[in-house]
Amino acid sequence: FLTVKGLSKSFDDQEVLKHIDLEIEKGNILTIIGPSGSGKTTLLRCLNALEMPNKGLFTFSDGLEIDFEKMPKKNELTKFRLKSGMVFQSYNLFPHKTALENVTEGPLIVQKREKQAVFKLAESLLDKVGLLDKKYLYPHQLSGGQQQRVGIARALAIEPELMLFDEPTSALDPELVGEVLKVIKDLANEGWTMAIVTHELKFAEQVSDRVLFMDNGYIVEQGPPAQVLKDPKEERTRQFIQRIM
Ligand code: ATP
Repeated sequence: FLTVKGLSKSFDDQEVLKHIDLEIEKGNILTIIGPSGSGKTTLLRCLNALEMPNKGLFTFSDGLEIDFEKMPKKNELTKFRLKSGMVFQSYNLFPHKTALENVTEGPLIVQKREKQAVFKLAESLLDKVGLLDKKYLYPHQLSGGQQQRVGIARALAIEPELMLFDEPTSALDPELVGEVLKVIKDLANEGWTMAIVTHELKFAEQVSDRVLFMDNGYIVEQGPPAQVLKDPKEERTRQFIQRIM
């Protein structure tokens, strides 16, 4: 679905991603693990240009190709951004909009789609995440788990081909983690293509097709979960997994 070659990203003079190569296959789930500060969030944000990479050639299976070494054209960048929906660690919902309005915002404002169809879609997505009865509530009236499920519905609303999750459960109280992971597992079963940054290794083992371990801006190793999580090749991966298991 997507091949990335030579992705680099610096903040000031700190190189946070150092020549990353990766591939995401259609229908596959890639989880990204690694210590704090290793560049996981930055990598995910580069995958939909929330952070602009300094370098990196992105090639999609439909032929869209973006080379960040040159300045991408505005319409190409918009196409690139609409390929993926992002779910944030801290939900990032609009506080003064209802659950329903949060979900309709992207398709109405960014994609300028027809209002009636968008509201119908938004209601079906809120139903999918089990929150149709909360559609007129504001974020502060919802629990963290419910807010994050609205966040997932909102990301789905632009009808992306790739779903990106940045530590979707790490801001949640432990008893609310399960309901969010369940929604992500349901999407996995529906065949969605996803990239997920997570510290939940058990979840990563259950859902991933591939696990990618990052440290210090590099991909240290990647492979099937049974290999990376259970029998890592690299000492750094082994130490990390022992520490957080
Ligand atoms: P965590 O698990 O703690 O979220 P991470 O692996 O996701 O960590 P990143 O958030 O990608 O790591 O950060 C990688 C490095 O980039 C860190 O050193 C961080 O301080 C730096 N960094 C991230 N965003 C910015 C920014 N907007 N400006 C400057 N430095 C940044």
